[in-house]
Amino acid sequence: MNETSGTCCIICGQLKDMGIHIVTEFICEACEFEIVRTDVKDEKYPFFVHQLKQIWVQNNV
Ligand SMILES: [Zn+2]
Repeated sequence: MNETSGTCCIICGQLKDMGIHIVTEFICEACEFEIVRTDVKDEKYPFFVHQLKQIWVQNNV
């Protein structure tokens, strides 16, 4: 077991082992769950959208 391994989640910024990779970015399963259950009317939703947009911006320069 290597506890120092992990990938930096673009949403929460923490190193996590479990999650999904979207293109070159990583979203931990906790944040993925948050995004999925967040309603578009929720005040957190624009934040998630903003974070996710960075993926597309980085890959469309
Ligand atoms: Zn996260």
